[in-house]
Amino acid sequence: MGGVMALKRNVFLVEDEAHIQQLIQYNLEASGFLVSVFGSGEELLRQCASAIPDLFILDLMLPGIDGLEICRRIRLDGRMRQIPVIMLTARSEEFDRVLGLELGADDYITKPFSVRELVARVRAIFRRTDGALPGEGEIVRVGDIALDPARHEAYKQGNRLELTLKEFELLKILLQNRGRVLTRDMLLEKVWGFDYYGETRTVDVHIRYLRQKIEDDDSKPLYIETVRGVGYRFV
Ligand code: CA
Repeated sequence: MGGVMALKRNVFLVEDEAHIQQLIQYNLEASGFLVSVFGSGEELLRQCASAIPDLFILDLMLPGIDGLEICRRIRLDGRMRQIPVIMLTARSEEFDRVLGLELGADDYITKPFSVRELVARVRAIFRRTDGALPGEGEIVRVGDIALDPARHEAYKQGNRLELTLKEFELLKILLQNRGRVLTRDMLLEKVWGFDYYGETRTVDVHIRYLRQKIEDDDSKPLYIETVRGVGYRFV
């Protein structure tokens, strides 16, 4: 991991407004990314049958299938399950925003947005997914759960867990800090990397999905303990 060759990262953008398409494409390309632009979800998904990007940027409101539906289909496809998704939303769409989190988007940008912020967030996503840092690549085992940071895979009793990128990152941080209580703010900062004020329930939503995948009975969690009013602990 982390070779010296700088491969260009490929971004697939779905946006139906031409001036926003151009704005994003121009600025990401100027920052060294390759950008393929699609005017609809249907066009994007046709392309994904033969080529897969390193990152999706999905406008929420689109003619035809919308950004949430595209995100849902990406997360159902084993080839694309872990590819980061940034959703573009309008301010009035708070409800959709929360719903989108449950469907596995990794980050949100609210229109109107600054181009600098968009580029910074794209870079931040790649920093977090660009493989393990030296010394961080070792397989972590706790009980019958194992996590391989270099391969981005996790296992329970030897069976591979189908985790989204965020679920994987959450599990990794919980395992690396096992026995310690991690606050929601801490998890939000480490996993999402941004200040989502008032959005700590984002963490709760993702913990709920993670529990459904790793606990035998997610109503009586044995691995991830809730520390009431504080946060979570891997026990
Ligand atoms: Ca739109």
